[in-house]
Amino acid sequence: MARARSGAPRRRVRAGRSSRRHSLGGVLECLHLDGPTSRTQLTELTGLTRSTIAELVQELGQLGFVEERAAPLVTGPGRPSPVVHPRPQAAVVLAVELAVASVSLATVGLGGRVLARSRLARPEDDPAALVAEIAAAAAPLLAALPDRARVVGTGVAVVGVARSQDGVVELAPNLGWRGVPLGAMLDAALGLPGWLLVGNDADLGALAEQRRGVGRGVEHLLYVSGEVGLGCGVISSGIPLRGTHGFAGEAGHMLVNPDGRPCRCGATGCWETEAGSARLLARAGLATGSAGIDELEVRAAAGEAAACAALCEVGRWLGIGIGDLVNLFDPQLVVLGSVYGRLFGWLEPSLRDGVGLRSMTAMGGAVEVVRSGLVGEAALLGAAELVFDRLLADPAGAVRRRSEPRVAGG
Ligand SMILES: [Zn+2]
Repeated sequence: MARARSGAPRRRVRAGRSSRRHSLGGVLECLHLDGPTSRTQLTELTGLTRSTIAELVQELGQLGFVEERAAPLVTGPGRPSPVVHPRPQAAVVLAVELAVASVSLATVGLGGRVLARSRLARPEDDPAALVAEIAAAAAPLLAALPDRARVVGTGVAVVGVARSQDGVVELAPNLGWRGVPLGAMLDAALGLPGWLLVGNDADLGALAEQRRGVGRGVEHLLYVSGEVGLGCGVISSGIPLRGTHGFAGEAGHMLVNPDGRPCRCGATGCWETEAGSARLLARAGLATGSAGIDELEVRAAAGEAAACAALCEVGRWLGIGIGDLVNLFDPQLVVLGSVYGRLFGWLEPSLRDGVGLRSMTAMGGAVEVVRSGLVGEAALLGAAELVFDRLLADPAGAVRRRSEPRVAGG
C-alpha cells in the first residue's frame, strides 16, 4: 500500500506552560532532522510567526547550536530568506552499539552527522573488561573532535533488556548477562558530561528508522532485526513503545512453537529459536557468526539447495511472527534490519507467505515490508537519537546542566 511520505512531516511546536522552551526545541528539532532550512521554511514547518522564528533562531545561535548563512542566489520576487544550519560540533553524542559479536562506536553531531566511527570485535563476556575496552576505543574518537565540540551525552544500544530508569541490563541472554549495571559502569569509565542513556538495540533501531531511515515520518512502524537472537522495536502513533520498565517489544521471546527448541532465555519455542540467525545458520549447516552469514550469502547466490531451503524456512517463521505483530499493532510499515535486511531478497517470498498465514487479511494486505536503508547502523544511530531527544526537549537547559552527569535508561 502506498504510504504518505510527501516530504518532511509538519511538526507542531508544543504549546503550554513552557511554550518558549518547547518552541526552541521544536525549531532545533526541525534543523536536526531536516538539515539546513530557510527561515521561511521554518515558519511553515512549525506554524510559528516570522518574528518568533527570528527570535528563536537568534537564541539558538547564541547557544551555539545554529548559524545563519546567506541564501543561495535565486531569481524571482522577494528577498531570499537566510538559511539556518545546525552546527554538528555544538552537540555531539558518543553512540555505542553493543552487539553479540562486536561493538560499534561513533561520535554523532547535531543534525545526525557521523563525525567518526570505529568497530571492534567483542573480546569476552565479562562486563568489566568490555566496558574498559569501550572506554579505550572511545578515547581516540573523542580526542579527534574539534576543540570547541560540546559532548552532550552517551547513548548505548544493547542486545538485551535494559531498564529505562537506570540503564541496568536486566537480561541479555545472548551475552549471558543478568542484572549488569551497564549505565553506571560506562559512566564511571567514560567520565563524559551529559546524559548516559541505555536502550534495547531493536527499540533504538526502530527510532533511527523513523527519524532517518526508510520509516521517516511514519507514525506506526515495526522494526525487526536479527544478529544471533531476534529483536523487535515498535513505534505507535509516532511514539516508541517502551512499557513500564522499558522492556516492551521482546517479541523474540514470544511463543511460536510449543513443541520447539529450548531458548537461551530459559523458555521453549520462542520466535528467535525458529527465526533467529543462529537457527538460520544451523539449518544451512554453517557456523554462527558474521563469517557464517557471508558464506550463506555466497551459497544462496550460487543457488545451493541447503542455503536456499534454510532461508525459505526461516523466512516463513519470520513472516509468521511478523503476522502476529501486525495483528497486535496494525503498523503501516515493517522494516527488517541487520542480518534480515542483508538477506531480505532471499527471505522475502516465504516471509510474505508467513505474514499472510498469520495476519488477518485486511492487515496483512495493507502493511508494507521493506529492508532497512541504514546499512547495519540503525541501532547505533538510534542510540544517538535517544540522547538528542533529551537535548531537543530543552536545548537551553541542556547547555546549563551539561556539567552534571546523569545515568538513566532509554
Ligand atoms: Zn526465549
